[in-house]
Amino acid sequence: MRNQVKHFINGEWIESTGSETIDVVNPATEEVMGKISSGTNEDLNKAVAAAKAVLPTFSNSTKEERIQWLHNIVEGYKKRKDEFIEVMTDELGAPLSVSEEVHYNMGLGHFSHAAEALESFSFSENRGGHTVLKETIGVSGLITPWNFPTNQTSTKIASAIAAGSPVVLKPASKTPFAAMMLAEIIDEAGVPKGAFNLVNGTGSEIGDGISSHRDIDFVSFTGSGSVGEKIMQNAAQTIKKVALELGGKSPLIVLDDANVEEAAKSAVSHMMTNTGQVCSAATRILVPTSMKTQFEEAVQKVLPSFPVGDPRKEGIATGPLVSEDQWDTVQSYIEKGEKEATLLVGGTGKPEGLEKGYFAKPTVFTDVSNDMVIAQEEIFGPVTTILTYDSLDQALEIANDTIYGLAGYVIGKNPEKFRDVASRIKAGRITVNDTATDFHGPFGGYKQSGIGREWGDFGIEEYLEVKSVHGMPS
Ligand code: NDP
Repeated sequence: MRNQVKHFINGEWIESTGSETIDVVNPATEEVMGKISSGTNEDLNKAVAAAKAVLPTFSNSTKEERIQWLHNIVEGYKKRKDEFIEVMTDELGAPLSVSEEVHYNMGLGHFSHAAEALESFSFSENRGGHTVLKETIGVSGLITPWNFPTNQTSTKIASAIAAGSPVVLKPASKTPFAAMMLAEIIDEAGVPKGAFNLVNGTGSEIGDGISSHRDIDFVSFTGSGSVGEKIMQNAAQTIKKVALELGGKSPLIVLDDANVEEAAKSAVSHMMTNTGQVCSAATRILVPTSMKTQFEEAVQKVLPSFPVGDPRKEGIATGPLVSEDQWDTVQSYIEKGEKEATLLVGGTGKPEGLEKGYFAKPTVFTDVSNDMVIAQEEIFGPVTTILTYDSLDQALEIANDTIYGLAGYVIGKNPEKFRDVASRIKAGRITVNDTATDFHGPFGGYKQSGIGREWGDFGIEEYLEVKSVHGMPS
């Protein structure tokens, strides 16, 4: 049982000014695995004051110093690999292999790629004889979700350090322990006191406090659209810049020359990886009408190769949903789907033998039309939808008929069609034939999937202001 009822402020772990705590529940066992403080506004004010105090020196640190801090963090992070994997498996319910291959690796990738991006990053440019300077934006507030405990925190922290912006982080209270490990690593890496602060607590108190705080100059948030909206409203009071990474309902277009088995494997992998709790997952699978039956058979065949179960057990591909709330939400979408579409596999309730833990049945709906609720709203569970199309134009029309625009996927053989799809899907990231994620590309969405970009040099830019200096040679 982890009892970590402290906040990390100004380089120290300090007691909360309040006495309330939040239970952190292991979603596979439904047991309380630890406690954190439910921070107060007073705690937040202390953290913001520490960040503000270090701003003049931290923002003037050299590129070399920042690169060294990032390298030190990478070394510290690697040393605690086994602990990270265990912690994320327990707090999130990710199978051990997923904690390692996805979660651990993504956190590591962000720190090392921020260091790499910084090497060639220029904070001063000559434009037409004048100088353009890129300066630290000020104090940044970071609010992160539970679905990728190290990925979402690391991308924001790494970019902020690279830009010289002191931060106050509020991690998700469902998965706070990996973030608290990061605080220890950042401290040991020699990052100046006050440049990294972590305050635990509820979204309604600490998250709300960050987005409306007068001494916070920029907020970077990842999470639901409804909270993103509140953050923008709060930030408007002080004309604060916001970066929002919100939801998605991404399409996967299976071209008519695609290998059906490969396409089915891709669709199933999207719905099962991280128990479908992935903002960029493809959850609308568009197949040519002529391929529908074959595709449905292939999906049913491939599903058992993603076994659901105890995330600590060898060979398990998919764990439970993160919480009871999330389980209830997913169940209500499955109920809606059963009314409006055809259930191909799965349904409501828990999988056989997995009555304890927030496990959901992998569920596939077919005969789905794009105006159905299950095709329009983010479900965030092991659920997918199969839609059909008769021409590529129609597929693209369906793909873009959504409020979201985070990602798009295409599977097939014809490079001309890849170009067509990539240029016509309105989304921030397009992936052809399941090509592996590359940290050199930015991450972020069009439309209601968000504002701004993360990762590498695009991420660093978010934490900077631009100053135009006329009459001074660079
Ligand atoms: P939230 O958006 O509520 O949570 C994300 C973060 O925001 C958490 O740290 C949360 O705090 C915080 N927060 C909550 N309320 C506020 C507020 N008023 N002001 C500032 N911060 C706040 O996501 P949920 O956990 O409720 O998940 C609901 C749905 O959101 C999911 O089903 C999914 O559709 C979507 N989602 C999308 C994600 C993405 O990657 N884009 C990630 C997670 C969820 P606290 O710790 O108290 O929860």
